[in-house]
Amino acid sequence: MNNIIVSKFGSATFSTPEMIKKAADIIISDKNRRYIVVSSPGERSADDVKMTDMLFILNSRYENREDFSEMLDQVKARFTEMVRGLGVSFDVDAEIMNIKKNLFFGKGNDFVVSRGEYITAKIFAEYLGWPFVDAANFVTFNRDGTLDREKTFAAAEKIFADTEHAVIPGFYGTIGGTGIKLFPRGGGDTTAAIVARAVHAELCEKWSERTKVFSADPSIVENPAIIRHLTYEELKQLNYMGVSVFHEDVVLLMQDIGIPTKVRNIHDIDDAGTLVTKELPPEAHRGVAACIAGKRNYRIIHIEKFGLNRLTGIGQKVFGIFTERNISCEHYMSGIYRFSIVVKNPLFDLKRAEILQALNNAIKPESITVEKNLSLITVVGKGMRTVKGIFAKMFSGIAEAGVKVKMIEQGSDDLNIIIGVYDEDYEATVRAIYKAMIL
Ligand code: ASP
Repeated sequence: MNNIIVSKFGSATFSTPEMIKKAADIIISDKNRRYIVVSSPGERSADDVKMTDMLFILNSRYENREDFSEMLDQVKARFTEMVRGLGVSFDVDAEIMNIKKNLFFGKGNDFVVSRGEYITAKIFAEYLGWPFVDAANFVTFNRDGTLDREKTFAAAEKIFADTEHAVIPGFYGTIGGTGIKLFPRGGGDTTAAIVARAVHAELCEKWSERTKVFSADPSIVENPAIIRHLTYEELKQLNYMGVSVFHEDVVLLMQDIGIPTKVRNIHDIDDAGTLVTKELPPEAHRGVAACIAGKRNYRIIHIEKFGLNRLTGIGQKVFGIFTERNISCEHYMSGIYRFSIVVKNPLFDLKRAEILQALNNAIKPESITVEKNLSLITVVGKGMRTVKGIFAKMFSGIAEAGVKVKMIEQGSDDLNIIIGVYDEDYEATVRAIYKAMIL
């Protein structure tokens, strides 16, 4: 381990030359920031289109035999603006010709889209006076589209062993020797994690325009606290509830690699950001829980049958019926006479009649009822369940808010508690839990 920092800058950073200069200042302000992973330019205004999206459109216009020249001109104009604004010498025309040539050669969507990060990284490397290292030289995908971790890690270590500084385009790698393949959207973070592993970095940073990682939705809770420390496990729980700081695959990779990651805001560089680590550091300062997140619009299906607890294979039958229809059972509860499943809408409503019929045929229950408008709220925080009196505090807060709790689930992993309430009580419940667990 050394002091090396790998910094990934998101698309907002590359939206204008001024923002790029700001990123350069951030980089230069700490000599440990030696490896920079780059995204492609983001929107300059509300009606602007992200470069990645422009390139997706460009390729689909070409494939549908529509006129793509205007889109190509727009791509060229954006890179020309960048080059002029930074005052670097860079042949944008040659890169645009290369995109055009490869469209005609049928190199495919992923190649075309990857040029967003490729060209940006080349221009930024020129501006910083640092070497450019192409991600296609070390990120390798298997034929089935998954990351070939072994090859990628080995190639990355080799390349970066001789490179003191580098600017690297994120979001893509090579497949089948000569092809280019993209990661899922937001995949530049994966590239950064790979580089961080290769250089044995002390820290991997993600600079984006995303507002800070709040402990509750600021549109529900006034001025919620910023989460300063999170574990990867907690981050996974938050992802499940739609608080997406990183793509799910990235979190898994980062967790395996184990290098701490810091989420920073490019518009507020003085803010310390949020540190994500495997274990919480002793100085981690936060409330009993780290965060509250939730989602509305679930359905809860109750199957009632006398003697249900003595029957075998009920769960298997019920889950089978949902699985065959590609609907995942988010949660389930079983009692003496009742088996209840929580599923996401609108998928369930689309297949409601046939599912109820199948459940009737398979279980022959006394009744099946479907409750609508259920919200799930998850309270995430490692170790919070061991805090004495915390449940009493939380549920008395919820009761004071006049909310009826429909469901409670404690994950087996000591990380979260999930509470189901009616949609209309969602906001009041979030506020009550915030007061009890985070304030
Ligand atoms: N430019 C890509 C996207 O818009 C990848 C990234 O930003 O990480 O998803």
